[in-house]
Amino acid sequence: MKDRDVASCRACERFVLQIPGWTTFVQSYWLLRADWRAEPGFFHGALHFSCLSGWEHEEAFRRELVEILTGRGRPITVEAEDGAHVLEQPGLYYSELVHQDGEWSIHRNTSTDRWLILSRRGPWFFLDARQLDALAQGLPARADEGGERVRLPEGLELEIDSASLAGLLDALAIRDRYPGLLEHGSPDYQVWGYFPKKRGLAYSVAVDLPLPRSAAEFLAGYAREYEPIRFDEPG
Ligand SMILES: [Zn+2]
Repeated sequence: MKDRDVASCRACERFVLQIPGWTTFVQSYWLLRADWRAEPGFFHGALHFSCLSGWEHEEAFRRELVEILTGRGRPITVEAEDGAHVLEQPGLYYSELVHQDGEWSIHRNTSTDRWLILSRRGPWFFLDARQLDALAQGLPARADEGGERVRLPEGLELEIDSASLAGLLDALAIRDRYPGLLEHGSPDYQVWGYFPKKRGLAYSVAVDLPLPRSAAEFLAGYAREYEPIRFDEPG
């Protein structure tokens, strides 16, 4: 684990090109316990969402994940060589359950107008009010914020500066880890810069998030009626 590249998937070990809705990066500060390992430790790093379903450690991973995403922080006991330590595992405060429909649940943040769409197996998404507005208008929830920087593997046979997203995914041999992206995601891939010496790629991908139809339909109605969080109310 320690020697692995920061951009390799913690489930399949292949390269992860971060694209909203298809991949994620589990932050180390989450203190997500990796109970499935022989030595006590924490899980962090890159993941293809498509690798989660069927992953041998999925259940244990998801148990911890749900606690962190929907929780408000909790003490956890961690065994180390010099005995047990109590650490504070953070919570992300998506604590208000808004809706549940078998495969999916929708949670609202307790202090900001943000929502978590959490699948029982597979991906999770964060949405803001602007994306909810889009759903209410019958449009896709589009992720188009910011950019990414990544160090590409050695030996890619590709003109990185001018390659298409499909070409890059093929050269990295990971296109199958992004099901539906090229067909339904309307990805807008932009190269911001490529630095051959370090094989550093700065890029962005704006994309329609692959929300399940039932969740998108629910949110379209919900978006018209929820009460935004206000800070100017008395008391
Ligand atoms: Zn993977």
